[in-house]
Amino acid sequence: MAERQLVVFDFDWSMADQDTDRWIFEVQAPDIRRKMEKLESSVQWTDLVAQSLREGHEKGMKREDIEHALKIIPYHPAMVRAVTNLKARGKTTFLCLSNANSVFISTILKEKGLDTLFEDIITNPAEWDDSGLLRLRRKIDPEGPQHGCKIGCSPNMCKGEELDAFLGRHSPAYDRIVYVGDGSNDFCPVLHLQSHDIVCCRTFGGLPKRIARDGETFGLKCQVKYWTGAWELEEIFDNL
Ligand SMILES: [Mg+2]
Repeated sequence: MAERQLVVFDFDWSMADQDTDRWIFEVQAPDIRRKMEKLESSVQWTDLVAQSLREGHEKGMKREDIEHALKIIPYHPAMVRAVTNLKARGKTTFLCLSNANSVFISTILKEKGLDTLFEDIITNPAEWDDSGLLRLRRKIDPEGPQHGCKIGCSPNMCKGEELDAFLGRHSPAYDRIVYVGDGSNDFCPVLHLQSHDIVCCRTFGGLPKRIARDGETFGLKCQVKYWTGAWELEEIFDNL
């Protein structure tokens, strides 16, 4: 077993069994959810969620409504077991790298009793204002310098750059990195992994497609393990 191990988690469809941004509107405002579907191809996703939160707020969607939706989000009990048991064995540091936002993630983790799991949560900043509006911003300010990722990260954040920056802040180097993800924007950070590292790739979503299509071309070096249900990820974790 590795002496110092880093487990990196994407959040939506990786840690949670749903997509937080879409889920809260599916629960509380399906008309806005439908509108997001129509605008997704023309508006940057984080901006679209921020805009939809403002629209929901104007239509009377309250902070408690959003928090309720987050607390009932599909979340597999085996996921809680998998991370809790791995953490209890020591030697593993957990990092969250997500395109959701700080409030969604912290609210859900608190509900699951996992609020101390992650060493760091790198995501889009959000905060409640006094009127109960959740104000959300891109991790990278659209007015400032942008990341130069050519692999396919969204403008709000390059997960590969963020992973490298985290590794730069933490020494000595980890003996092994295990990355859990499902989406096409998880492909960039996975390309930063080495041959002794592992990606735990969900069998659905953009990541398995990118690995199959572009893995060889882009020089993917790490081992790939596939999982569908969290009980299967638990099996992988139990053998780390
Ligand atoms: Mg995801």
